[in-house]
Amino acid sequence: MCSQGVSEVPTAMEIYKLLPKTNCGECKFPTCLAFAMQLANQKVALEACPHVSSEAKAALEESGAPPIRLVTFGAGELAAKMGDETQLFRHDKTFYNPTVLGLIADDSDGLDGVKSKLDEAQAMSFERVGQILRVDSVAIRHSSGSPEDFVAAVKAAAEKGLPVTIMCDDPAIASKAVEACADKKPLLYRATASNFDDMVALAKDKSLPLVVSAPGLDELAELADKAKKAGLNDLVLEPGVQTSADMLVNMTAIRRAAVKNKFRPLGFPTIAVLGPTEAEHMKAALGVMKYSSAVLMDTMPREMVYPLLALRQNIFTDPQVPIQVKAGLYSVGEPTDKSPVMFTTNFSLTYFTVRADIEKSKVPAWLLVVDTEGQSVMTAFAAGKLTPESVAKAIEDFQVKEKSSRNEIILPGMVSRMSGKLGELTDMKITVGPRESSGLPKLMKTFSG
Ligand code: SF4
Repeated sequence: MCSQGVSEVPTAMEIYKLLPKTNCGECKFPTCLAFAMQLANQKVALEACPHVSSEAKAALEESGAPPIRLVTFGAGELAAKMGDETQLFRHDKTFYNPTVLGLIADDSDGLDGVKSKLDEAQAMSFERVGQILRVDSVAIRHSSGSPEDFVAAVKAAAEKGLPVTIMCDDPAIASKAVEACADKKPLLYRATASNFDDMVALAKDKSLPLVVSAPGLDELAELADKAKKAGLNDLVLEPGVQTSADMLVNMTAIRRAAVKNKFRPLGFPTIAVLGPTEAEHMKAALGVMKYSSAVLMDTMPREMVYPLLALRQNIFTDPQVPIQVKAGLYSVGEPTDKSPVMFTTNFSLTYFTVRADIEKSKVPAWLLVVDTEGQSVMTAFAAGKLTPESVAKAIEDFQVKEKSSRNEIILPGMVSRMSGKLGELTDMKITVGPRESSGLPKLMKTFSG
């Protein structure tokens, strides 16, 4: 990839040349060179040197910035965040800002058509393992030929409260749409080689984030660098994504250039705009995994959106911190002191699956959640975090015997080996449940009488 004429993160030597070179040690490093090396690796802040000149400060400002800039659009609580990622692989640390998913409405569908699509986007909200997953934004595309229709559609979208992308290559018409919702900080789509100066001027004038688009990565980097030199910092990159292979290659190349090579012109979030076919929906999943900060789609059938949102939830959780629920004794339905008690772990996915299976039986029950630091039953058992002792302690801590007079507890079939010891510790009758919670409804029926 060409890097001529574009700026990259300064190296330690480049930083060193701008430092006072007095080795005074006030930065807590013995030499200016040692400080420069830490700064190049983004381990310290430039402010730690009190003697750096303002010119050097300006020149070095970038060295403390994240490899991919955080760009937001929309206003208030629903504002969409993109970028600010530091990793190439999720398992190395974590990914921070989930891919923003947006539904495109076309102004050629008329205002009623646009409004019904906006309603559709707003209704796409699901609960999974205790979290609300939703479509995050809407986009209005201009293809009607009527600037008035476009402005009306953008206005309707802005009124919905979701972040809006204004999709129009004509700067004059885009400007009119921006006027209708500038206070909502829309994302402006897009500056290309042919409308570049006017789009950059519009984004700069209204302080809006701007999508920069080019089919090739060299051209994209050059346009982004040019926009940056013109004073625009909030950029989103749109590379060519004709095929799934293009998408994978281009998005990966951008992420790698930004994170590994600290190549500043590509250090921005990315966006992919996808069509209505099933193949395009598959590309949305690819975008979530490999590295689209935003994906805009012409259609979002519910049967596609739910798995896509679940995938996104899985990719954008910290792999070192499983999603957890609080340990405690939960009621499922309206249990009494005659209702059965069972236990599981505080890994959210396990808890909600077990709970849903109990609910299916329509038999009220008590569900004891044992703190296993978010591990599932077998993992926690193997790691010694789910033991007869820890379950016995939870039974005592959460006063299980006071809530249920049955003096019986159902344990997950996969940990039947702990039944003897648990019985000894608690003096309770231990019933071995099914290995999979899908077997719970059948077992629960035996308690319904
Ligand atoms: Fe050099 Fe500044 Fe550190 Fe002093 S405080 S050693 S001048 S980098």
